[in-house]
Amino acid sequence: MRICLDPGHGGNDRSNRGPTGYVEADGVLDIALRTRTLLQSSGLQVVMTRDHDTTVSLPARMAYAVAQDADIFISIHTDAYSDPRAHGCTVFCSVRDDQSRNLAVAIEQALRNVGRPSRGVRTRVLADGRDYYYVIREARMPSVLVECGFHTNPTEEALLKTPEFRQLIAIALADGIKAFAGPQIPDVIPVLLDGELQPVTGRLIGDITYAPVRALAEALGLMVVWDEKQRLVRLISSQK
Ligand SMILES: [Zn+2]
Repeated sequence: MRICLDPGHGGNDRSNRGPTGYVEADGVLDIALRTRTLLQSSGLQVVMTRDHDTTVSLPARMAYAVAQDADIFISIHTDAYSDPRAHGCTVFCSVRDDQSRNLAVAIEQALRNVGRPSRGVRTRVLADGRDYYYVIREARMPSVLVECGFHTNPTEEALLKTPEFRQLIAIALADGIKAFAGPQIPDVIPVLLDGELQPVTGRLIGDITYAPVRALAEALGLMVVWDEKQRLVRLISSQK
C-alpha cells in the first residue's frame, strides 16, 4: 500500500491564516510530515505532494500521485469560516467512489480521538453533480480531503498552533489509514549470500532494505567492532 499525503497550499499560496498567526500551509505540512513518520514506522510506503514550503498546483499534485502509483490520496487542510464559532473536523469523500467513502469513514472514526467534535463524513458537489474538490474529482485512486478543525475558531487555532495537537491529528490520520489498509504483509526480506540463507532478515522500508550489520559482515569474513566511545561500527577486513 502506497499512500500519497497532500499537504494543502504552500509556496505562493500562504494566505489562509488564523486570527492570531496560524498559517494553514505550515500547519498542514507539519501534520503531514508527522503522519508520514508514523506510517513509515508501520512499514507503509508514503509519498508526499510537497515536503517543504513550495507551490504545487492541484493538477501537479494529482499527476504526482498517479506517477508515484499511489493507492490512496489524502489531502490535509484546516478549515475556515466567516463565523468564528464554526468548529470541528470534517472528512470529505467522493460521491461516486465507495472506497473513498470507506477511507473517509476510517479516518473520521480515528479523528474522534483528538477531542474535537466531528462534523462527520461529507460530500460536496458542483452544480453538475461531480465532486467539488479537484483532488477528489480528478483522483484515479480512493481520495479524501480532511479538514483538521477550523483555524478561524479561536479554540481550534490555539490547538493547531501546538505540536502536541498536530501530533494527535497525525496519529488519528495514520490510525485511520492503517485501519483502511488492513493488515499489511510484513516487509520481511530474507538475505541470501552466494545462494545461502543468512541468519538475518531485512526489512523493506521505503525502497531500502535494512538488515543487522554484524551477522552479514561476519558472513562476509569481516570483523565487526562496536566502538562505544565514538558510537560507530567498525568493519575490519581480516586481510589487513
Ligand atoms: Zn485548505
